[in-house]
Amino acid sequence: MRKHIKGIDASPGVAIGKVFLYKEVEVVLSEVKVTDTKAEVERLLNGQKETRIQLEAIREKTRQKLGNEKASIFDGHITLLEDEDLVEEVKLKIEDEKKSAELALNEGIEEYCEMISNLDDEYLRERVADLRDISKRWINNILEIDIIDLGNLPANTVILARDLTPSDTAQMDLENVQGFVTEIGGKTAHSAIMARSLEVPAVVGTKEILSFVNTGDEIIVDALSGDVIIHPTAEDVEVYTAKRQNFIDEKIELAKLKDKEAFTTDGHRVDLWANIGGAKDVDGVLKNGADGIGLYRTEFLFMDNDRLPTEDEQFEAYKIVVERLAGKPVTIRTMDIGGDKALPYMKLPHEENPFLGYRALRVCLDRKDMFKTQLRALLRASAFGYLKIMFPMVINLEEVRASKELLEECKAELRVEGVKFDEEIKIGIMIETPATAFRAKHFAEEVDFFSIGTNDLTQYTLAVDRGNEVISKLYDTYNPAVLEAIRQAIEGAHAAGITISMCGEFAGDETATELLLGLGLDAFSMSASSIPKIKKNLINMSYAKSKELANEAMELRTADEIKTKVMRG
Ligand code: PEP
Ligand code: MG
Repeated sequence: MRKHIKGIDASPGVAIGKVFLYKEVEVVLSEVKVTDTKAEVERLLNGQKETRIQLEAIREKTRQKLGNEKASIFDGHITLLEDEDLVEEVKLKIEDEKKSAELALNEGIEEYCEMISNLDDEYLRERVADLRDISKRWINNILEIDIIDLGNLPANTVILARDLTPSDTAQMDLENVQGFVTEIGGKTAHSAIMARSLEVPAVVGTKEILSFVNTGDEIIVDALSGDVIIHPTAEDVEVYTAKRQNFIDEKIELAKLKDKEAFTTDGHRVDLWANIGGAKDVDGVLKNGADGIGLYRTEFLFMDNDRLPTEDEQFEAYKIVVERLAGKPVTIRTMDIGGDKALPYMKLPHEENPFLGYRALRVCLDRKDMFKTQLRALLRASAFGYLKIMFPMVINLEEVRASKELLEECKAELRVEGVKFDEEIKIGIMIETPATAFRAKHFAEEVDFFSIGTNDLTQYTLAVDRGNEVISKLYDTYNPAVLEAIRQAIEGAHAAGITISMCGEFAGDETATELLLGLGLDAFSMSASSIPKIKKNLINMSYAKSKELANEAMELRTADEIKTKVMRG
């Protein structure tokens, strides 16, 4: 029966396809003593055989998509899978201790991981994550649990999940995934941000949708309005096919503005920059005519790995982006791990309040070696174009000074080593805590630029978790307190003579463009796909009139009054 569910529009577009339910099954390791040990060993070996077949298939797919070098990682996995000492150890646990195959394997692998973690061999230590990955797959195969591979789904798939991590999103095979729907999350959750940069239609925060759907059900996702229809009628399909076509046509129209500069009708120029999560997003940046990159979220480089990326690996990842932007600014943010971005191999402590906890600069200043590796890689890449460094989650000047000091140490080391870098490299901070917004002028005197992170600034000003759909109505950047923080940040920056951009999602919100222009924002940074739309708005606006609008709006008392005002103009 047709069912209509409302969610939050997180990434624009319309998807029409078939549901794929993405649910991880809970794995239970049986502790019941086995009687037929021969049969149990057989289960172990069958699981191993199946795992080998799967790993070979992944290796082949990786070879076709990414080449031999990346594919060879899976040769290493297959070698680990077939380690004879390990298999013998596990067999003994089954035969002597009468353990189930899955329990024996889990214990065997954990003991093995423990042993190599303590060795003085970095290469072997780094194999721990590989081993755990293999163990998970192998145990699933023993238990005959289907392993979900988001990179290998049928055509016209719409993924439905409770939530998707950024790495789930990164794994998706975009040729076949039409869109996705999640039960939790809001517009600024990182899965939503990833969806926008990949231009995949997405609706989030649909609460209990998973209990109404099954894999294979027909579905329509209208991510322009946040509507999801399960078992649509023939009429629905007709209406939404037309809506999807309209959306595509409009995109083609907007693409014609690609090379036009963003001057207002009275000649005021603003910069339109893109937010990216990695080098693979650069095609979209160039295609949409961005003036530069206002936010490169480097943490995805750390998250898509099973160990910390080395200085050389980071250097390559930054250099390629800087080179492709050919002299346009590339603002690279130092790693912002923590909050909703976990890094399993770093074993960060479990926290009750991760968004208020051990996150971003707090981790970096605590783990200086790791931070310096990133800073050195950034400096080295700065020799290849226009690279700016930005620090996230700042709350006090000591953090800024300590970070700058470490940067100076890195510069001194590179000079001694004779390695080139940009001696004039620009350093900025994100304004994403009220602590920095209120004291903007003082921070502005010690850095070269600011960028307002409204995603966090909103949650920290209002004490509203940005990813919690239960209170998503309260998460509102139009709340006058958040706008006041934005206004103070802009005034503080300009009082000290530095530029200020915005890289939070509010910068790509069409309804806010005139207000932000009027408040004096110098640059807007957003998902590349939003740039043409915002550019179209800006080139039809008067800077003088936007100032009047901003002055009037800031006198109003409630978010709704301000929204009504900005929407009417
Ligand atoms: C922000 O907080 O607005 C921001 C851009 O950073 P992130 O979304 O990565 O926390
Ligand atoms: Mg942030």
